[in-house]
Parts: sequence; structure tokens; C-alpha cells
Amino acid sequence: MRTPVIAGNWKLYKKSAEAVNLVSELIPLVKQTTGVEIIVAPVFTVLGKVRDVIAGTNVMLAAQDCFWEEEGAYTGEVSPGMLCDTGCSHVIIGHSERRQYFGETDTTVNRKIKAALAAGLTVLFCIGETLAERESGNTFKVLDSQVCGGLGDIPMAELSKIIIAYEPVWAIGTGKTATNEQAQEAHAHIRALIARLYGRDEAEAIRILYGGSVKPENIKGLMAQPDIDGALVGGASLNAPSFAAIANYKL
Ligand code: PEP
Repeated sequence: MRTPVIAGNWKLYKKSAEAVNLVSELIPLVKQTTGVEIIVAPVFTVLGKVRDVIAGTNVMLAAQDCFWEEEGAYTGEVSPGMLCDTGCSHVIIGHSERRQYFGETDTTVNRKIKAALAAGLTVLFCIGETLAERESGNTFKVLDSQVCGGLGDIPMAELSKIIIAYEPVWAIGTGKTATNEQAQEAHAHIRALIARLYGRDEAEAIRILYGGSVKPENIKGLMAQPDIDGALVGGASLNAPSFAAIANYKL
């Protein structure tokens, strides 16, 4: 039985007062929520403030990225150990916006995942095809190379600390959600690949989230799919009632 995960990626939004307001509004709306792991991922600068507000609640803290070195002359970077020190339990790695705008590759994603695991963080590992890749019939090929590249050399024992987020790039922030069937097909493909790489038990255990314009209106249909174990939510996570409605979905 896989515990569902609903994670909110706040992207480059919410300064400290807004972040505190958002999470303070969210907490009472999800405090009765059981059987779902709830995570918020604010910008680095407000992690400490959000940590203080969520202390003792069922909301967990993620960062949106990290570097692969623990310390050194790397101006502007933040290490996995620093994220733990700030109260993060999770980190998003390989988000398509980082691949698209900041030159992240499967190689850098792999280095970051290894470093985050070594620090004890749970990784939300993002993959997904572009519209051109889907339309040219290459979706599965792209997913295969992102999964194999991102998880390269990661041993089976570490897999329980990895949550995969399948986010078709064409559905992120566009209002276009993959159909339930398109999402399920991709998730089943990813799970079958994990079975080939790590074995059937690991594939059965790993959580695979869907991301791409998830809203209160479409979460139920997505969660009804057998291989969808939760959602990585961007836009709708910036509004507490919307995010809470997603986390409180009922099948
Ligand atoms: C995301 O940022 O990971 C995302 C899925 O965004 P949105 O929900 O806005 O499409």
C-alpha cells in the first residue's frame, strides 16, 4: 500500500509574510487529513520561516533544488546538508523549469540526487516529456533516459527515499492536464521500468506523482488511476483552499 503524497511547489513566489500567511491558512485546512503526506516547497529564503510555522503539524518542508557538493567555493549554491539544517525533509530535483532554464541535465540531476540522499533527504525526482517529444512519439524513450540517467548508480536500498514526479512539460502551468489515461499510461510505463531496474517489489513500493495543472477539479480522476500516487502541484498550491482541497481529495 503506497501512501499518497500531495506536494506544493511554490516556485518563485511568496516573500516571507505571504509565505507565512499561506502556510498558516493551510494548516487548519489539512490538520484532519490522514493517510496523505503533505509537503510544501517554498523558496530558499523563506524555508526557516515556514519551518517555524509548520512545526508540530502534518505539513512537511521541501526545497526546490540543491547543489551536489556539501560545501566549498560555489557562490550562490545551497547544499543538501544546509537544507537538512534548515528543517527540510524533502527536496525537488530535476524540475523541468530547472532543466529548461538552468541547463540541468540527467547527469547533474543524478549528482544532486546522490548528494541529497547522502544527506538524508527524500527526493522528489521530476521527469517528463516536452510537447515536441510527445508528438514525435518519443515520450517513453525520453522517460526511460531520464529515469535511467537520474537514478544511475543509485542502489536499491536508497529507492525508498525517492519519489518520482511525472510532469509532462506541456501540462505545467498551461492549464492543460494530461488525461487520466495519458497519465496512467506514463506512470505504468515508469513503474515497469523501475521493476526492470530494481525488481518488482521496489516498483510496487515507489510513489509516482503526477504534475501538470493539477486542480481540485481534476485530482480525483487522477488519483483513481492505479499507478498515480499523488500530485506535485504548482499554481494551485499558491492558494491554501485549493491546495487543501487537492490534499483532501476523496475517491
Ligand atoms: C509544477 O510546478 O511542478 C507544476 C506541476 O505546476 P502547475 O501545477 O502550475 O502546472
